[in-house]
Amino acid sequence: MSSETKHIAILGAGITGLQTAYALLSCPDTSDHKITLIANNIPEGGTWNYKPLHYSPNTSEFAGGHWRSYATTSDNDIKIREWDTKTYNAWSKLLIGNEGDSETYEERVAKTGLAFKEMQLFWGRESAETEGHDGRGIWWNGIVRDFSIIDVKSPKEGAIVPPGAIFGVKFETICFHPKRYLFYLLEEVKKLGGNIIKASVDAKNELGGVVRDAKRIILDNQAGSEELLVFINCAGNEAKNFLGEKESTKFNSIISQFIVVKGEAERCAFYQDFARNWETSYVNPRPGSSTSVIGGCKIDKNTNWDQSVAGNMNRTIKRRINMWGIANEVAPEDDEGNGKGKPIGFQVSVIHERQGGPRVAKESRQVEGVSVVHAYGHNWAGYTNSVGSAEKVVEIVCNL
Ligand SMILES: Cc1cc2nc3c(=O)[nH]c(=O)nc-3n(C[C@H](O)[C@H](O)[C@H](O)COP(=O)(O)OP(=O)(O)OC[C@H]3O[C@@H](n4cnc5c(N)ncnc54)[C@H](O)[C@@H]3O)c2cc1C
Repeated sequence: MSSETKHIAILGAGITGLQTAYALLSCPDTSDHKITLIANNIPEGGTWNYKPLHYSPNTSEFAGGHWRSYATTSDNDIKIREWDTKTYNAWSKLLIGNEGDSETYEERVAKTGLAFKEMQLFWGRESAETEGHDGRGIWWNGIVRDFSIIDVKSPKEGAIVPPGAIFGVKFETICFHPKRYLFYLLEEVKKLGGNIIKASVDAKNELGGVVRDAKRIILDNQAGSEELLVFINCAGNEAKNFLGEKESTKFNSIISQFIVVKGEAERCAFYQDFARNWETSYVNPRPGSSTSVIGGCKIDKNTNWDQSVAGNMNRTIKRRINMWGIANEVAPEDDEGNGKGKPIGFQVSVIHERQGGPRVAKESRQVEGVSVVHAYGHNWAGYTNSVGSAEKVVEIVCNL
């Protein structure tokens, strides 16, 4: 791509779209281009609406969340390991700042919605990550701060092991309050000159129709007369609805339900792969929000797309978190009368898990005279992938 100003449209204002817009606008090779971000759901900041929501077009608002890489030590995951490393380092830098900066750590937490937090992570069954029970299966053991193995048979002070865990580790993760962090990114994109349009792109007529409608929306909003030359698809789950049948069959559903509770838990914790049914249990403080989420995922491969709040799932979430005892300061009361925390709301979302992982690549052909770059399918780790994934898009755009 030559260095003269080009118009680049991004579909989506979730973590992938916003981080991609930010990366394009802050990279010297692409910062002169005109960037227009189009989405039907733009982060609004302010307080969170914790009423039960049965559908949201934006997965990013529902995330837990914390940094946790799902990449393995296999060669197939090299690029994801790079992305996740870049994100951990970039977030650390946002929190630590440069020498001589006047902003305090607390001010940085309030501004970004990010914070360093201790994380205890446990497995209920063997996997590539538990190999040797000594951390060798966890490629990121040297990337994160303060990584150590938890002795699950005779835990040392501070380690709180859930019943049935076969392996556990402790490290310093970076937690995020999704609403705050998305809004922070949006403000940064605006400061750098990014153009934001709130609109629905008609996705009924496959990719060609999507690009055509994006062009129409740009014209209608008088968002620049420059010819649109690049279209970046950061539509998340929705991408499967306009990329043809072969692509849509690559997705499985994972039902994720959580309870939002009052108070910020002291630490982040995650227990995955229960031996019997693969359900997970977790607690995630949301920095600067005076709330935490405790959940809840159920994997029903391709069978369950129901986003209504399930009462039995709520009971299970409460019982498990109290039985574990990892978050007594916020855990809500269960059927046995354990726990005193206050639930504020309940949310359910479906993660559309893409087989083969994220697709961050150029479309093989031009569509409606426009080069298309895809960036979707980030599954469980869209935030963890975000900085590196966005930099990959910049690299692709520079080579168009
Ligand atoms: C409960 C839960 C917990 C999670 N926890 C974590 C975690 O701790 N750490 C982590 O790294 N990841 C976590 N994830 C995963 C992470 O949230 C996702 O990978 C990520 O949000 C995907 O972001 P995205 O921007 O690609 O897609 P989305 O957030 O879905 O964004 C898609 C965007 O496209 C727009 N859009 C789509 N179609 C159209 C259209 N036709 N017209 C206009 N706009 C359109 C939407 O409005 C939206 O702005 C979690 C997910 C869930 C559900």
